[in-house]
Amino acid sequence: QAKALGGACLQHFDAPLRARLIERIELAHDLPGSERRAEQQLHFQPFFDAHQHRPVGVEALLRWQHPTRGLVSPETYIPIAEETGHIIELGAWVLDTALVHLRKWQSISAETRDFSVAVNVSAHQLASSGLVMRIEEALERHQVPPSSLWLELTESSVMNELESARKTLQRLRALGVSLAIDDFGTGYSSLAYLRDLPVNLLKLDRAFIAAMHRSERDQRIVAVVTSLARELDLKTIAEGVETSYQLRHLAELDCDLVQGFYLMRPAPAEAIDGLLEPVVG
Ligand code: C2E
Ligand code: MG
Ligand code: MG
Ligand code: MG
Repeated sequence: QAKALGGACLQHFDAPLRARLIERIELAHDLPGSERRAEQQLHFQPFFDAHQHRPVGVEALLRWQHPTRGLVSPETYIPIAEETGHIIELGAWVLDTALVHLRKWQSISAETRDFSVAVNVSAHQLASSGLVMRIEEALERHQVPPSSLWLELTESSVMNELESARKTLQRLRALGVSLAIDDFGTGYSSLAYLRDLPVNLLKLDRAFIAAMHRSERDQRIVAVVTSLARELDLKTIAEGVETSYQLRHLAELDCDLVQGFYLMRPAPAEAIDGLLEPVVG
């Protein structure tokens, strides 16, 4: 009955839109519990210091191996998880899984003791009341120093509820975790809020990095952002580094950290074990 009714309503939309709506409804239905059915996987993409190219940490990135649809991109289902509220449960699973691996990586050798993990946090998570407590509890449980955890927030999720976001970020900083603005330069970047928010990292959107090939002018924009960050005592990290040219220029522009397909693609945890294990002999 409900299905017939839904089908009738959906007839008002053209075929591609109808297909997308049906996909959204099905994904929203299949999402709860997908982490318990082991359909959710966490991949990790390292970031490196821009000069020595030593791995400094990894970003945790969700992958959903859907039983019938195959691999679903986080760009597709994170917004759905946000709308249904399931992002809270999924986010808790991401944090837990990331910290389990971090604990193991930090214990590999003296050089990996300060290894970090960056976890993406979306608007709904940031606005949820239990976030700070859950993070504090997870750090305690996994015996990971708070400074090794970075949270990546987007400009829009912070700007949404600027005042309450600022308070939450202050509590997180007081815990000792690091805070990064993700995809910096694509949202409503205003210098005033950068000055006021207790963040310590700027992650330059990959659109800027891609544009570096285009013109001198585009390179100067990156230079201005890195020097602005320095003035504000923020570290910079470039995402989406795909060429040796970009890597070289980012180092010259004194960008602190680099991440991208040219260095390493997101990969399962075992690939990071391999990256960090000391070479024997
Ligand atoms: P993001 O946090 O900005 O992550 C960077 C995206 O760029 C990732 O896509 C990554 O695979 C991709 N990428 C990395 N290097 C390169 C490169 O050199 N070239 C190109 N073209 N792309 C590159 P992915 O994994 O599909 O994730 C997409 C977005 O989904 C993320 O953007 C993030 O906003 C969201 N996301 C992923 N995992 C989580 C999660 O655990 N929680 C939340 N809330 N959001 C997540
Ligand atoms: Mg990110
Ligand atoms: Mg990003
Ligand atoms: Mg992005």
